[in-house]
Amino acid sequence: MTGDTQTRPSRHPETEIAYDAVIVGAGFAGMYMLHCLRQLGLSVRVFEVGGGVGGTWYWNRYPGARCDVESMQYSYSFSEELDQEWRWTEKYAPQAEILSYANHVADRYDLRRDIHFNTNVTKATFNEDTKRWVIETDHGDRVNAQFCIMAVGCLSAANKPPFDGLESFKGPVHHTGEWPHDGVDFTGLDVAVIGTGSSAIQSIPFIAQQAKSLTVFQRTPNYAVPAWNEKMDPAYERAIKDDYPAFRAKARARPTGFYFPFNMESALDATPEEREQQYDEAWARGGLPFLGAYGDLLFEKDANDTIAKFARAKIRAVVDDPATADLLCPDNIFGCKRLCVDTGYFEVYNQPHVKLVDVSQNPIERFTETGLVANGVEYKVDAAVFATGFAAMTGSFDKITIIGRHGQTLREKWRAGPRTYLGLSTVGFPNFFMITGPGSPSVLANMIPSIEQHVDWMTDCISHMRDIGAATIEPELKFEDDWVEHVNDVAQVSLRSTCSSWYVGANIPGRPRIFMPYIGGFPIYVNKCNEVMTNNLEGFTLKDAQNNDGVNFDVTPRTRWTERWRVPVDINIISPATIAAKRVPVV
Ligand code: FAD
Ligand code: NAP
Repeated sequence: MTGDTQTRPSRHPETEIAYDAVIVGAGFAGMYMLHCLRQLGLSVRVFEVGGGVGGTWYWNRYPGARCDVESMQYSYSFSEELDQEWRWTEKYAPQAEILSYANHVADRYDLRRDIHFNTNVTKATFNEDTKRWVIETDHGDRVNAQFCIMAVGCLSAANKPPFDGLESFKGPVHHTGEWPHDGVDFTGLDVAVIGTGSSAIQSIPFIAQQAKSLTVFQRTPNYAVPAWNEKMDPAYERAIKDDYPAFRAKARARPTGFYFPFNMESALDATPEEREQQYDEAWARGGLPFLGAYGDLLFEKDANDTIAKFARAKIRAVVDDPATADLLCPDNIFGCKRLCVDTGYFEVYNQPHVKLVDVSQNPIERFTETGLVANGVEYKVDAAVFATGFAAMTGSFDKITIIGRHGQTLREKWRAGPRTYLGLSTVGFPNFFMITGPGSPSVLANMIPSIEQHVDWMTDCISHMRDIGAATIEPELKFEDDWVEHVNDVAQVSLRSTCSSWYVGANIPGRPRIFMPYIGGFPIYVNKCNEVMTNNLEGFTLKDAQNNDGVNFDVTPRTRWTERWRVPVDINIISPATIAAKRVPVV
């Protein structure tokens, strides 16, 4: 399979160098973590397997790739100057512009000097004698650090199904998440796309423009709401920039960590006519906020049925061929899998050179030299696109041999599903932090604020440890168990826990089924993190270099970094009572 085509520049491996912290990954998470730890005066090394910063936006260069949280919100909020100087040109910026933004941030804060690119971290081992992590890479580096921070991404380990015969296929195969930097020209080619998730839905209209023929292999149909993307409206931009901090604070108080109008009423309390009007208006606004049309859509099946019916009618209104429209109409919960946002996706199937093949009943059988076989039919193609997603949330952890206390590997510990305290850390792995790890809101919220909140919390935590002379921090088993139970309990109130999505690991055979992100909403989660911090890092054990706990550690942490996350929560929108009442719209 083709992928990143960058060549690795030569450099001497780093051996036996001691850092205060090593960060794995230089996406938005790793970049901001580096920036913060530098301000604490720590020595930091970042390792990044890609050839540049930006993570997701470095790798996912497929045609049509863009964010689906509006760019005025899908951006860092830590610097008012950065907020003011950067200009997004579209409501939903394309991949190249988001990557430029990442590069701009790297330049502005001179981040690259501490990052080794083209370097894959293969192993991280906690040495119980020195209380330091030893980090090894495929480049021959072997460094040690007090803190090992995983900024490896939730959607960064490409899922490449091992189809029989794939190696015999003569044409190129591209995964959307490892798209070649020089682009791909499909002009005049017969092309297969496997998958119909967000990446497929964004790329298919562009691939169809070039290809001689396009055959889409669909295992599960998906709902998609039009983006109605547009050039940035200068008046809108000005209005936000006039008081960006207030806008950011408003967004943080929302369950999704981004602001959009939503209606807390029940869909079931409205008449069919009122519902139709409400859905029409929400559809006209487009994108993920469509799910905010009513407050109970992800909690009451009968309510969900109404929006699902509306969305299916939209598909049927666009797709000319009724049989194809039938195949494209999902019959599952609307928004149960991550909702897709499209631009001209369903319309593509009206083009005579585009065909949809249903592989829901019988999986793709095999590849041949000249194509692939499904339902007993060989489809001859010149090129194949795997829009087959990711081993979400834990895939990039699984690829690294991470060894904690008593020689336990993280893979073993998480065999039945990830276990964390607040998605930040895990028992048995001292001084090991995860940014947007499983058990935190991560992929259920606007990811950049999720990242910043985690990084700010870790920065205060590490700063505190230095203040009091603590050598290690590790969560306590009871608190981890309670948190895992809470994450599971809250998931059960949502219809999201009921379907075969990547949220539960169901997209890849053999993965444990457990709802991985925290669905209770961003502000509730943030409050919990703040509470833990101000309660003297409740649920964590801190030890000094002699392995004593509790000695002189009875000092309340300063909360310099997390302070900006103390926004008042709009209790009419999100509170324990609203969770109990099943009124928590989550995108
Ligand atoms: P990533 O950006 O995934 O970065 C992780 C980095 O770690 C990668 O560069 C990877 O190469 C590196 N890495 C991993 N393992 C190793 C290793 N062993 N050694 C060295 N380096 C390693 N979220 C939203 O909120 N809104 C959106 O609109 C949105 N759109 C998305 C569109 C696409 C196509 C995808 C795939 C995801 C999207 N997301 C979106 C989620 C997105 O992943 C996050 O918003 C965000 O970019 C994650 O940043 P990160 O730094 O945590 O992880
Ligand atoms: P995805 O949502 O997991 O979709 C993968 C698709 O491939 C699914 O249709 C899946 O079918 C199919 N598939 C997987 N293995 C298959 C197999 N063996 N045979 C046939 N089909 C197979 O992955 P994605 O589209 O890359 O998106 C992942 C996430 O990234 C999104 O949910 C979103 O969070 C983020 N993203 C966001 C945007 C955006 O608009 N900003 C764009 C892209 C990605 P099943 O459904 O049956 O598993």
